[in-house]
Formats: sequence, C-alpha cells, structure tokens
Amino acid sequence: MKVGIDLGGSHIAIGLVDNNGIILEKKERRILAKEKENIFKFIETYITENINELLQKNKITSVGIAIPGTLNKTNIIKSVNLGIENYNIVEKLKEKINLPIKIKNDAKCAALAENSFGSLKNYSRSIFLTLGTGIGGAAIINNELLDTGDLPGMEVGHMVIQKGGLPCKCGNNGCFERYASMKALKNNLRTVLGLDENTRGQELLDMIRNNKPSNKNYEKIEKVVNEFIENLSIGIANLINLFEPEAIVIGGSFVYFEDVLLERLKNCLKTENYLFNKRKELIIKPAVLGNDAGIIGASLT
Ligand SMILES: [Zn+2]
Repeated sequence: MKVGIDLGGSHIAIGLVDNNGIILEKKERRILAKEKENIFKFIETYITENINELLQKNKITSVGIAIPGTLNKTNIIKSVNLGIENYNIVEKLKEKINLPIKIKNDAKCAALAENSFGSLKNYSRSIFLTLGTGIGGAAIINNELLDTGDLPGMEVGHMVIQKGGLPCKCGNNGCFERYASMKALKNNLRTVLGLDENTRGQELLDMIRNNKPSNKNYEKIEKVVNEFIENLSIGIANLINLFEPEAIVIGGSFVYFEDVLLERLKNCLKTENYLFNKRKELIIKPAVLGNDAGIIGASLT
C-alpha cells in the first residue's frame, strides 16, 4: 500500500492507494488563509498526523507528494501557488516519518497516473498536457517520464510561440500559456464581450456551446475561440514534431470544455500546415482521472 498526496495551492488531499491505482481511503481539506501564513508548519503537521493515522491500520511502503511548481528530488525550488521558495520538504518530513518520501511536479504525477490507469494506459509514448491557469506537461517515453536530470524540463507552457509577444509571469514574452491556457481563453472571451472577471467558466462554456450565427456576439466569440485553437495547435504541433507521440492527453479545466474544443483542435491540426509528418489519425483525448490523478500519480513516484 502506498500513500499519495496532492498538495495544491488551496487544497490538500491524502490517499491510501493500492497497486491497481485504486484509492482505498482519502482525506482532503482546504488550506485556510491563516494556515497559509505558516505553510511549512501546516504541511508538516497535517501530513505527519495523517500518515501516522494510516500507519496504525495499514502497511505502507512509500509516500509520494504531487506539488505544483519547480522541484528537484528533495526541494521545492519555487511554487508560486504555495508561496514557497527553497524548502527541503523531504528532509523536514523525514525527521518525523520513517518511510521513503518522494516529490514530483503535479503535472508529471497526473501524467504517470493517466499512463498507468487512465487515458494513456494503452500507449507507451505519449504527451500529457494540463491546460488550466497555465500549461504544464510531461512526456512519457517507453512508459517512463522523460528524464530531464536535476531540472524539471518539459516547460511546455513557456515555449515561445510569438516573438516579442505578451509578457509572461516567467519574465519572458510570447509564452505558449499566455495564448493557449484555459485562463487565456476565458480572459479573452470576457474582454471581447465586456464581461467582468467574476463571470464563471461554466457561463463562458455555455456561450461557446450555444454560439450560433444568429447570435449577436457570434463573430466575436468565434474569433476568440478560433485564435485559441490556432495557438493551441501550434504548441501541440511542435510537440508532435518533436516526439511523434502515439497519443496526447489533455487534462486540467480543458476537460470541461472538451465537447466544444477537442474536434476543432483536431481539425485545425490536420488542416493547417504545422505537422512535419502528416497524419491520418491523431489521437487526442481528455484525461479521465480528474482530481484523483495527483494522488494516484504521487503514489507511483
Ligand atoms: Zn513564460
């Protein structure tokens, strides 16, 4: 039995996972603002208490933690979501827990989970993308994550697709995620429609879903969605040209928009001249493990 932990910016989940990737027991909760003030203490206490509780009834062989941000094998180098820099989380937890502990970027964990038990299980060479606030990614080669040494690598969201383009929080300009993340799509829709920033994703999704030529805003919405699809296609085509994956799986909040975006994406990739090797078949699927992908993937690290 293994423990997988999904440590998010505002939420933590701890699961007891068996060898088939089934979560037998799960505990989760929001991280409160006052706990964020002393995030280190919260993380160490919450994880230690829950693992000790699980150890009373179960034989646990390892602990894995999925974390958003840049990590090496033992340290969180930088996590904007958690507000943490240079924190040796593995060493700190090892002072209190006598088990092997590993950490891995959350997108890579999700990729591992999808590769073992989800949408990617029938493929040995694939690309996993998570489209949400930003864009994360992972490459699976021969059923293993691409090894990029001490640095995380696969910074898919920060491939430059526009010279001198929009500024990105990473400090560069023209990054893929500024054009093709779900946040970019939602923000662009809000802007052209004059909506305020509280307009929810579901509302925007319905606008795309119900968009008809007779609608007042038809052209505006179409233009934003088309540009998004084109930009997403450029980034994905670059990845296909590099890795020739058997399949691509997209997770994150993209999965809620899949019915209105996925076919358009495939069509764009097939009709635009972005692919070096033309393909008849293009397998692009939504992720299926949803919120559990972090826990399951962390248990596989
Ligand atoms: Zn960037």
